[in-house]
Amino acid sequence: MIKANNPELKSWILVPENSDFPIQNLPFGVVKTADLTPFVATRIGDKVIDLRNLFQFGYLNNLGFVLADFDNEFLNSLMKHGKVVTRNLRNRLSELFDSNCSELKQNDVHVHEVLFDINEVEMCMPVQIGDYTDFYSSKEHATNVGMMFRDPANALLPNWLWIPVGYHGRASSVILSGQNIHRPKGQIKPVPTEDPIYAPSRQVDFELEMAFVTYDGKPLGDSIKTAEAEDYIFGMCLFNDWSARDIQAWEYVPLGPFLAKNFASSISSWIVTLDALEPYAVETTKQEPKVLSYLEFEGKKSYDIHLQVAIEPENSNETVICNSNFKYMYWNMAQQLAHHTVNGCNVRCGDLMGSGTISGPTEDSYGSMLELAWKGTKPLKMNDGSERKFILDGDTVIMRGHSEANGVRIGFGEVKAKILPAK
Ligand code: MN
Repeated sequence: MIKANNPELKSWILVPENSDFPIQNLPFGVVKTADLTPFVATRIGDKVIDLRNLFQFGYLNNLGFVLADFDNEFLNSLMKHGKVVTRNLRNRLSELFDSNCSELKQNDVHVHEVLFDINEVEMCMPVQIGDYTDFYSSKEHATNVGMMFRDPANALLPNWLWIPVGYHGRASSVILSGQNIHRPKGQIKPVPTEDPIYAPSRQVDFELEMAFVTYDGKPLGDSIKTAEAEDYIFGMCLFNDWSARDIQAWEYVPLGPFLAKNFASSISSWIVTLDALEPYAVETTKQEPKVLSYLEFEGKKSYDIHLQVAIEPENSNETVICNSNFKYMYWNMAQQLAHHTVNGCNVRCGDLMGSGTISGPTEDSYGSMLELAWKGTKPLKMNDGSERKFILDGDTVIMRGHSEANGVRIGFGEVKAKILPAK
């Protein structure tokens, strides 16, 4: 067991009940304050821990880091050290904040310089994302979409059960939770028998996804095997892959999604390490037909992560509209990474891989409005009495995720963004 994952550990920092951030989490992020330039941080309860100051005070010596790894506006420099070194860092942080350790706790001056209240800091984009790839790995989602847009009898395309289908997205428009988005404009075809028009999208949708962030992969030409995939994954975050369904429906043939997807994708601000998620690993759903040899894997490669989506209309309270789980994914992350590199494609430190929309087996576990309101035919009722087929101007979409086992709950916080009127 990874030392920092011990369920018995308690921190000397207060952790509110049902917090996503007990000492067993120790995610990584980047924060700044009104007075301070961005620095690398972790979090316990509602306290943000400044790793730049911790390093400067000598608490993180002999781990292989230099100041610039923490005195940095991104996590990439830290991630460059790879799995073993970042695991040792998390274990060291676990030790320092353990209630039985007085090394830092007893030094009031240092504690004061290292701990910030979460309300005192501003979260920053944690990773400088090089490339962003989005998969399409939920069988329920792919089936639902196939039923709506193609043939209900042959909802899954013939390649789907053989290939972890994906496409190359765009990194420049991946944004941090809290940044709001203008409704995208483009070509839509409101009347199928008539010519397209140029207008704001009328079918703005979210996609409930999670994403993983990679360490440096292998050189161009080499492949990552499923058995070693976890050594190349730093951690995960919540991911809302915003989509404009009307733009998508018209543009996607023959090369797939383009402007329907690249106007914005929102990520949560803390990267929860794959190490921290290890206690929540579960079996992947049975894959039939048997996968090709390079996609075979052993052990528990999926993760039990409860996911929730809520819509908060302007000047109103939120309505929870979806409860899903990351474990519903048909293809796991090890298979996605093995597939991505099977042709020799190189993955680099700071790449982002989206899971694809995560839909479960029941109607209340579908991960997009497209499915929840079934292409607009079954509008969702909000708590304020209004109805939704897609996302309206002024709506804030909020996604949350957490895992729970052995009396320990760790989570991701939330990812949220509001849709503003078209510019
Ligand atoms: Mn997507």
